Amino acid sequence: MTTEFAQLGLMSQLDQTVSDLGYITPTPIQSEIIPLMLDGNDVIGQAQTGTGKTAAFMLPILQTLERNHSGIQALVLTPTRELAIQVAKAANEYGKRLNVRVLAVYGGQRYNLQINRLRQGVDIVVGTPGRLLDLINKKVLDLSSLRTVVLDEADEMLSMGFMEDMEEILSTLPSERQAALFSATIPPKLGRMINKYMHSPKSVTIKSKHLTVDATEHQYCLVNKEDKLAVLTRLFEIEDITSAIIFVRTRVGTSDLVNELTGRGFPAEALNGDLNQQTREQVLNRFRSNQTTILVATDVAARGLDINDISHVFNYDLPEEPELYVHRVGRTGRAGKTGIAISLLATRELWRLHRIEGFTKQEITRKPIPTTEEIEEHRKTQLLEEMTTWLDRGRCRRELQMVTQLVEIGHDPLKIAAIALKMVRREEKQRPIAQISEVQEERFQNSRRRTPLSNSPTRRLQNSRRKIKSIKKRKDRNGANSSYEKGMVRLTFGAGRSHGVRPADVVGTIAYHAKFPGNTIGSISILDKHTLVDVPQQYVEQTLAKSGEYKIHKRAVKLNLA
Ligand code: AMP
Repeated sequence: MTTEFAQLGLMSQLDQTVSDLGYITPTPIQSEIIPLMLDGNDVIGQAQTGTGKTAAFMLPILQTLERNHSGIQALVLTPTRELAIQVAKAANEYGKRLNVRVLAVYGGQRYNLQINRLRQGVDIVVGTPGRLLDLINKKVLDLSSLRTVVLDEADEMLSMGFMEDMEEILSTLPSERQAALFSATIPPKLGRMINKYMHSPKSVTIKSKHLTVDATEHQYCLVNKEDKLAVLTRLFEIEDITSAIIFVRTRVGTSDLVNELTGRGFPAEALNGDLNQQTREQVLNRFRSNQTTILVATDVAARGLDINDISHVFNYDLPEEPELYVHRVGRTGRAGKTGIAISLLATRELWRLHRIEGFTKQEITRKPIPTTEEIEEHRKTQLLEEMTTWLDRGRCRRELQMVTQLVEIGHDPLKIAAIALKMVRREEKQRPIAQISEVQEERFQNSRRRTPLSNSPTRRLQNSRRKIKSIKKRKDRNGANSSYEKGMVRLTFGAGRSHGVRPADVVGTIAYHAKFPGNTIGSISILDKHTLVDVPQQYVEQTLAKSGEYKIHKRAVKLNLA
């Protein structure tokens, strides 16, 4: 039995259940909220997903449920369908010794299903505001005997435009009921709602630093904007990623990045507002079951996700607001596991990073971008480790026979082994290490210090001269038809964004007709009326030879040297 949970005043069935779940000590939010709610107080908890807030409000709800009562006794409002399902699941789990009846309701689900379940009798309803209001208006959700209402992730509901629905629901509830509100932030609109609908609430603030679970390492890489993708793929080589979410600013950004990553041998899936409910659920299931390791998401699409144990969160684009950073990284390092949050930013975005550090009271340390040498060394170490494992296993009878054949005709065993390794490493050649340019941070810092000068005519002249020089230098280095990536040649064709071209179309048609691996294709820039694509030098001839055969959306495209 967990004595500390027992000290919170929980009944033995709940105490036993949390112990079965392996909870040893209550989290800070649980230690504070549980006794307050058991005493009947209204509460405000400033806490994020990952802090154990669900148990903080659900355990007292379960304890105070009246047995043999027919009406709905508790209502939990959540911003998303995923969070509703997650909270309902937790309620069932925590209430397993109490035969509690829980129902999750959300948009997209058949009304009949929800209405039938409500008719059979439910103790706790968890749902999204829109659907809850629909059911109230249809007079099938009777909340007249409600004892507790919880607003979970209230700031998220607010930013998703649920303010009016929330207020309407609150106004229909009996006045003698307990209210609990959980939110990472309390914007003024929420403050006004609290004053109106809560009775002398007791506030519990888990210090900002605890909002982002302590077990998360916060890092950032300083990059040139155009090198973000290259840096990301370099990090993928070195980091021990079991599951990752990459946050980007826009929906279009998610699809573009997914295509770029998949084309480079890092299969990823997009999670954005374009997906219908069914596809979204399929994407999430594949991620949960580890069939997909990398999700590329927007903030809106990732709201309230029920996903645990993410090893890495990447901020491909920095969040606009520091609060969003907390929401994003709150998904890593949950329930005692260490997670890593890595932000990619340009020098001129450093001020935003400092704002985030100020808000979270969390230092974000600089991480050097992995160098080509480090990645090569890492690949080598990994291969040697894998070989050692196989050597220990020793199951290679047939391969030994083949080696014996080679030795018998006079080859040196050491050389045979080396050649075998070389053949294995051919695959690595298909994954060229993306080139990056040096970050000019010193120049930026100097120019920032001398702000008044930076706009002066002299400075502008110096800047434009410098720009011309650097473009010239790159041209000299690469030659007219080359890309800025080593070993790549830039080709072009006359169809672009306005024709609906996407990176996957480019990779697909070229790889299919020119017959070489799509993941070797380099950078792709889709402009309005034409597209630029980098093809490895060794495949250029065969790519151009098939120039008459490429098709994108049934439209023939002709590839030429750029
Ligand atoms: P939540 O913030 O409610 O989403 O909870 C985050 C995760 O922490 C869930 O996987 C819970 O099962 C787990 N959890 C909640 N309370 C505890 C606790 N006291 N000890 C260990 N794990 C916990």
